[in-house]
Amino acid sequence: MPSPRADRRLADQLRPITIEPNIAPYASGSVLIGFGLTRVICAATIEPKVPTWMRQQGVKGGWLTAEYSMLPYSTLDRKPRDIAKGKLDGRTVEIQRLIGRALRAVLDLDKLGTNTLWIDCDVLQADGGTRTAAITGAYLAARLAIQKLLDAKALAENPLTDSVAAVSAGICGGEAFLDLAYTEDRDAEVDANVVMTGRGHFVEVQSSGEESTFTHDQLQSLLGLAQKGLKELAAVQTAFLTKQLLKA
Ligand code: UDP
Repeated sequence: MPSPRADRRLADQLRPITIEPNIAPYASGSVLIGFGLTRVICAATIEPKVPTWMRQQGVKGGWLTAEYSMLPYSTLDRKPRDIAKGKLDGRTVEIQRLIGRALRAVLDLDKLGTNTLWIDCDVLQADGGTRTAAITGAYLAARLAIQKLLDAKALAENPLTDSVAAVSAGICGGEAFLDLAYTEDRDAEVDANVVMTGRGHFVEVQSSGEESTFTHDQLQSLLGLAQKGLKELAAVQTAFLTKQLLKA
């Protein structure tokens, strides 16, 4: 039976995943990650200090913070920068907090030393799933940045305890699909974003009906699709890092 999806993908098929390393050479680690047409610049920068509140309260270890933005030309209609409007929109805040939580779930802050890991995710092209591509790429950027500290002997051991990746799934026209592109996301009755570690533990599951509701079985089918996709994404991440870290 022909695929009902605009790009002819199978229901459980990811978009093509592309990863370009060191896209921002002045960052400690960076990648340009693509989930199909969605492309996000993910950069990790290490600053050898921690926020003032940590110093004041004597909190040991390091910190990780994440920022997310869509470049004005990442969407079909120009999207003004948040700074031009004088405030972050709610969506931006929601997404950057999600990215921070995802990365902190696999980071031993004690082992990070008195360093702050800044994660910056900037969407170059948006076609759905920018937050999931951002998380998947941010882990890679963070791992590359940590390697610099390890190589410089500024860290004794890798503070990342596992990998982390994210993917979307949704129900369109009553059918469940993996990794929604923009037109699918726009028309979806149910939309889910799932964040998972390389060992297969959930970090976050967000699933919502868009003017619709969903059943237990539909939720199970979305989680099943996401888990399949996340296993594949973890394998792509491992292959990429093996190549990059061996080269160094
Ligand atoms: N989008 C857009 N302008 C916006 C917000 C979203 O064009 O201000 C498009 C973009 O393609 C994005 C998609 O809508 O990827 C889905 O947005 P959503 O808020 O669901 O986040 P995402 O799926 O990108 O994580």
